[in-house]
Amino acid sequence: MQFRPVKGMNDILPGDIERWQRLESVFRSTVELHGYSEVRTPILEALELFVRSTGETSEIVEKQMFELERSGERLALRPEGTPGSARAFIGGSVHAREPVTRWYYIGPMFRAENPQRGRYRQFHQAGCEVYGDAGPIADAEMIDMLVGLLRALGVSSFDVRVNSLGGPQSRARYRNVLQDYLRPHANELSEHAQKRLLDNPLRILDSKNPRDIEAVKGAPSILEVLEPEDLAHFQGLRAALDALGTPYTIDPGLVRGLDYYTRTLFEFTSSAGKLGSQNALLGGGRYDGMLAELGGPQLPAIGYAMGLERMLLAMDDSALPQVQRCFVAPVGERAAHQGLVLARELRAREITVDLDGRGGSLRSLLRRADARGARFCLVIGDSELERGVVQVKDLRAHTQIELAPSAVASHIAVALTQDEAAG
Ligand code: AMP
Repeated sequence: MQFRPVKGMNDILPGDIERWQRLESVFRSTVELHGYSEVRTPILEALELFVRSTGETSEIVEKQMFELERSGERLALRPEGTPGSARAFIGGSVHAREPVTRWYYIGPMFRAENPQRGRYRQFHQAGCEVYGDAGPIADAEMIDMLVGLLRALGVSSFDVRVNSLGGPQSRARYRNVLQDYLRPHANELSEHAQKRLLDNPLRILDSKNPRDIEAVKGAPSILEVLEPEDLAHFQGLRAALDALGTPYTIDPGLVRGLDYYTRTLFEFTSSAGKLGSQNALLGGGRYDGMLAELGGPQLPAIGYAMGLERMLLAMDDSALPQVQRCFVAPVGERAAHQGLVLARELRAREITVDLDGRGGSLRSLLRRADARGARFCLVIGDSELERGVVQVKDLRAHTQIELAPSAVASHIAVALTQDEAAG
């Protein structure tokens, strides 16, 4: 019997992991430059946390949660990062120590979806949350940071869409306007949208069903019914983005699937690289009511989550740096001892070393070095030991020299530095 990973969940093996690591390191350095600190929260949380925050009528909570029960406790694998982070922020009374908090996270999320390219059951998100700043300057700064991040990662083209959902009053008003507009068309809507018409009509704007798309085509825009304060907030966001020269388009149809959003909403889509129909790279928005809803302080918040699998599909790899490595191949016990010392000296100079003490013919040693993609192969056999030298083979230039063991590490370090300087 052979075991396979669970449907929609993937192993990430060496060979692929280098791209992940690069993505994660560019993400980390970008957000840390913007003042964010990392938070790590558990993958399992109380089921109720997601019901209360992500929303009872959200697709995630309705259909996609991996739930389990243990000793009477109802738990769920986290489908997104925002609720756990908010819980930790509230639980730690962090707001009592700092007026504004900027957190980021990276990690696996779980949703029971039908797997396809760019859509998995275990996937990874990297996201940021800002607590305690009502925006809109903070909102514009976050969107601009993300534009810079995507450019740094070599995503060749992408679209930034922004919208405002207003606060609770604007939203309630729009809900009525939309219900009034759609009610005469109720029969034309999908079955799911007919249900939504009663409990959450805004979600119909988000529907992928062709019948719903047709029905909402002439619907009034939420931007037409925003309360003056919400409108001023949205105009403040636009003015700040314009001042930054950040590209964006306004999309009044953008609502996104989570129930907790207020005011600013944004989504980045792309058709770059191998992204197919799952073209949303990241999405986010303001959730000014959630902390209080979860029993925390009445503080505004904004956040986003970026899908790492989708970023990897969209990223251009030409910038991926190759690790230069050294293969150390001693033959025999005495040679192996010298090989160990040499490997340690090289690593002290930050040079990656594979030590292969299995012995064998020179041909097989070189074949193994080649298979590892090594730049240098260091051979130490009986004849080298006798003469007190190490054979240093440059596998790229196809040259070789013999050096005293004490001269090897500096020789290789100099050669690799020259390579780097030559680009
Ligand atoms: P959401 O949390 O649904 O707003 O999604 C934010 C981002 O996470 C999306 O733009 C995608 O890049 C990514 N994402 C969401 N669901 C999945 C999934 N099932 N598989 C892979 N990536 C996903």
